[in-house]
Amino acid sequence: MAQLAADLQLAVHRLPCARCSGRHLWLPTDLSPQAARYCSACRVRHPAQDGDLWAESRLLGLRRVFLACQDGRVCQVNELARCQAELFAKLQPDCHRCQLRRAEAAPPYRFVYRK
Ligand SMILES: [Zn+2]
Ligand SMILES: [Zn+2]
Repeated sequence: MAQLAADLQLAVHRLPCARCSGRHLWLPTDLSPQAARYCSACRVRHPAQDGDLWAESRLLGLRRVFLACQDGRVCQVNELARCQAELFAKLQPDCHRCQLRRAEAAPPYRFVYRK
């Protein structure tokens, strides 16, 4: 039963990828869009807008987590970040200003750097 619930969860939150022909997991977190993006300069979580994508460091910088604001939820998108590693490599973790933004209105979403 736990496995079934897990499978349903995966099915609901897998979105098609703009790079590969597969789907990647968008794992909902308990972060709210009103206090979403951790900023190391201000030491607070800044609000995120729908379509924002950012990186945060964990475990004293040893780990990096990629998060996106989508449909009023903050999702962890590490799988997408691994697939599109070249794009995501330039992302500064814990940044004051959100660098990446969703370019498409519908999936598969492409993400582009803000000017
Ligand atoms: Zn992919
Ligand atoms: Zn800040």
